[in-house]
Amino acid sequence: MEYKVDKKFVLNTLEDLLKTPSPSGYCHNIMKKIEKMVEDLGYKLEYTKKGAGFIKVEGENKDYTVGIAAHLDTLGGMVRSVKSTGMIRFTSIGGNLMPTLDSEYCTIHTRKGKEYSGTILSTSPASHVYKDAKDKERNEENLEIRLDENIKNKEDVEKLGIKAGDFISIDPKTTFTESGFIKSRHIDDKGGTSCLLSLLQILNKNKIKPKNNLILFISTYEEVGHGASYIPKEIDELLAVDMGCIGDDLTCTENDVSICVKDSSGPYDFEMTNKLIKIAEENKLNHAVDIYPYYGSDASAALRAGNNIKCALIGPGVHASHGMERTHYEGLENTIKLLISYVTE
Ligand SMILES: [Zn+2]
Repeated sequence: MEYKVDKKFVLNTLEDLLKTPSPSGYCHNIMKKIEKMVEDLGYKLEYTKKGAGFIKVEGENKDYTVGIAAHLDTLGGMVRSVKSTGMIRFTSIGGNLMPTLDSEYCTIHTRKGKEYSGTILSTSPASHVYKDAKDKERNEENLEIRLDENIKNKEDVEKLGIKAGDFISIDPKTTFTESGFIKSRHIDDKGGTSCLLSLLQILNKNKIKPKNNLILFISTYEEVGHGASYIPKEIDELLAVDMGCIGDDLTCTENDVSICVKDSSGPYDFEMTNKLIKIAEENKLNHAVDIYPYYGSDASAALRAGNNIKCALIGPGVHASHGMERTHYEGLENTIKLLISYVTE
C-alpha cells in the first residue's frame, strides 16, 4: 500500500534540525528538540548513557526487532587555544573538508552557555597583504577564527570566558530553492534523521503497526566513529540511513535513494540489501545501487563493536559531502518511501 509523504513536515523538520547546532559531543540541545518532536508524534524518546536516543514501536511480530539508525551529530570544531593576537586556534571535530571552511561564519559555544560569532579565516587572509594568501594550504594549522568582539589580545578573549574545549559550530547556510533543492552543511545526516521522523509520522497518522518490532536509533557520535557502537540488545538487524554518495563513477543523483552495497567497512548484508533493492524496483522508486569508496556508517560502528546483528545502508543522494552539501526533496521522499515499505512488508 502506498502512503503519502507529508512534504511540508519533511522540509520543516529538516530546516529546524539543520539550523540547530550539533557538532559531535554537543548534541544535548538538539536531542531535547528531537524528544519534543517524537512526543508530538505520540511516541517516547529514551536515552542511552552517552546521550543517543531511541524510540520503540511495537510490531505485529514481537520476536524480531528491526533497528533503523540515523545520526544527528555533525562536523564541527573545538577551541584549541587562544593566540596572543586574540585569534582562535581550533581543532576539527570529524572529517571536515578543510578548504571549504575558509571564510565560513561560525559560533563558539562556551561551557557556561555563552555564544560568540566569528569567521574562520586563513592565517594569510588578505590578498593585499600576504603573498601566500592564494596558495596557503587550508588546514588546521593555517586556519584560525576571528571573533566579532573588540579584542586586541589573548587576555581580552579570556575575559569573554572563551577557553580550550569550547565547541564550535559552523554556519550551515541552509537554503531551500524553488526547484526543490536543499543546500546546506550537515545534510549528512540531518537528511537521514528527518526521514526517520517522517517514517514515525506516517506510522502514527495511518495507524500502521510495523511487521516486526521497530527501534529507531538517533546517534550522536557518528562523525567521530563510535555513533551506534552501543544499540539496544533486542535489535536483530540494523538499517543505517545516512547520506548517499554522489560522484566519479557512482550512479546516484540527488533525486535518488541510494542503496549502498559496500563501503570502507566491506559489503553489507546480502539478504537485507536484496530486500531493499527489490522494494525499490517493485515500487518504482528512483534509486541507485552503489559502492562508497571512502565511507563508514553507524552500521559499521555497530558491527565493529561486536553486536550480533546484520546491517544495511541507504540514504538520500547528497552532493559535495562534508563541504557545502546539497540534496533534493525527491531524494528524501524516495528514502522515506523505501523505509515505509521496508518496515511494513
Ligand atoms: Zn553521515
